Amino acid sequence: MTLTVKPIAILDDNYAWFLRDEATGVTAVMDAAVVGPIEDFVKAEGGRLDWLLITHHHGDHIAGIAELAARTGAKVAGNAQDAARLPKLDVAVKPGDVFALGASEAQIIDTPGHTHGHISWYFPSGETLLCADTLFAAGCGRLLEGTPAEMFASLQKLAALPEATKVCCGHEYTLSNIRYALSVEPDNAALQAFAERAKALRAEGKPTVPTTIGLEQAINPFLHARDVKHFAELRLGKDNFR
Ligand code: ZN
Ligand code: FE
Repeated sequence: MTLTVKPIAILDDNYAWFLRDEATGVTAVMDAAVVGPIEDFVKAEGGRLDWLLITHHHGDHIAGIAELAARTGAKVAGNAQDAARLPKLDVAVKPGDVFALGASEAQIIDTPGHTHGHISWYFPSGETLLCADTLFAAGCGRLLEGTPAEMFASLQKLAALPEATKVCCGHEYTLSNIRYALSVEPDNAALQAFAERAKALRAEGKPTVPTTIGLEQAINPFLHARDVKHFAELRLGKDNFR
């Protein structure tokens, strides 16, 4: 394995992600929104923290970063376009850039929709996608700043990645997403099977993520939208679902 990736459950239902390039030992945490639990996790992984990486500007993804950077000396990398509303960046990346985490390279993918400046980090060699509040297990992020057309295009880009790609999202929203997904696609057998698996995992207090692009293609109604209009209807349906 070239890249180790592990979820760190923080706050009520957020996931930060611990990353280690195994060739060099270089490590990172994506979306470090708290300090203590991240420090504890890093300590248990050997204590090395080189990078604090960012997907988007919301507090539940960045609130711990300035203090962690000051305490550990880790460098901060995020979207240049959002620099004014992110913690101080040591490296400002742009969509299309390649970011080197040791020997593991991440492609920076522009994924607006949840926010204007939301980016996703895709490690081809590590078969890992960190997509925060764009693509969730069986769901997608709310449109807080972007348009349905932007989010539809962002999701289409992510859905086109290789099927084995691990989907490391920003929240444990899976059971709620499944309830809505089943209301849209009640006869989807893959979705029914995932629902059983997810329920069992949550009953044991375990994460339901990462899933894979292949699984999301099978179960995620937002990836089955025919066009922008259909996507907008699905998203509105989820916003009003209870
Ligand atoms: Zn967010
Ligand atoms: Fe979030």
